[in-house]
Amino acid sequence: MILEPFQYFSPTSIAEAQEILLKYGDGAKILAGGQSLIPIMKMGLEIPCIVDIKNISELNFVRESNGRIEIGALTKYNEIEDSDSIRKKMPLLSKTVSGIGHPLVRNRGTIGGSLAHCDPAADLCVTSLALDGTIIIASPDGKTRSVPADEFFKGPLTTDLQHGEILHSVSFPLSKEKTGYDIQKLTLGHGDFPLLVVSVFLNFDGNRFYRVRIAFGGVAETAVRSIECENYLEGKETISEQDIEKVSEMAMELLEAPVSLELSQEYTRHMIGVYTGRALRNALQLVMG
Ligand SMILES: Cc1cc2nc3c(=O)[nH]c(=O)nc-3n(C[C@H](O)[C@H](O)[C@H](O)COP(=O)(O)OP(=O)(O)OC[C@H]3O[C@@H](n4cnc5c(N)ncnc54)[C@H](O)[C@@H]3O)c2cc1C
Repeated sequence: MILEPFQYFSPTSIAEAQEILLKYGDGAKILAGGQSLIPIMKMGLEIPCIVDIKNISELNFVRESNGRIEIGALTKYNEIEDSDSIRKKMPLLSKTVSGIGHPLVRNRGTIGGSLAHCDPAADLCVTSLALDGTIIIASPDGKTRSVPADEFFKGPLTTDLQHGEILHSVSFPLSKEKTGYDIQKLTLGHGDFPLLVVSVFLNFDGNRFYRVRIAFGGVAETAVRSIECENYLEGKETISEQDIEKVSEMAMELLEAPVSLELSQEYTRHMIGVYTGRALRNALQLVMG
């Protein structure tokens, strides 16, 4: 479908972008990689004013500081995938982005765009919960505010972002001890958007598991963590096959509504259990290996 006419701006600073966003109000929309916004516009959504942020270089960075990795909102999936420091220090994030869509999507899609778009089954929304991500938001008054990922996602395609605000970056704490991780997802075809996602992150101090994170996409209105599943495993000296089966059964109860017209409730519930078990076994192998 041919897009409706719109005004196009290409600011080079956050302040300039915010000035345009405030001036054009609800009619203005940020464009990052365009991998979600353009398809929606092609479906007929009229957006009178596009604010293309791709030339705001201050939003494109990967840096390490104070025991955290910070990633600018405009950092593309393939840049995250190619980052040595992320591969070494935050391999779950590398694994997550390398499984998104196909090369064209990964060459254009941005971490900020994925989190701001807030699809309930987006891989990065799920993994940002598993990695205790914090979203840094640039407010129009020139200040920034920080929101934990589990408070940022409010509903399908709805976040804590207010009008005029720009998602600036995401920050993740680095782990000091041994970690295990995995992401599993269900798609209808290779490169398709996922219907279900399970992301697991285990920390082990040599004696006990701590900071166990199990996050899900596609089971509820937003990506969610299961505190119940996490608490069941936290503090254990070992995680047995029975523990994994128990947690997989607990995870199956999380399903709130059908995730897709293509899958039955029963099949979806079953697959949540299968993927939770698989992700936990793979994560455990990395801790113990
Ligand atoms: C064929 C295909 C396959 C895909 N497969 C997957 C997949 O397997 N897994 C997956 O998770 N996703 C998948 N996607 C979606 C993809 O990840 C999108 O790139 C992502 O959802 C949006 O990122 P973007 O940079 O393209 O954002 P855009 O499309 O440019 O923007 C998306 C939304 O976020 C807002 N926005 C963008 N950046 C900011 C910012 N910095 N501050 C505030 N608001 C902002 C925009 O206004 C818009 O509302 C797929 C997409 C396609 C087309």
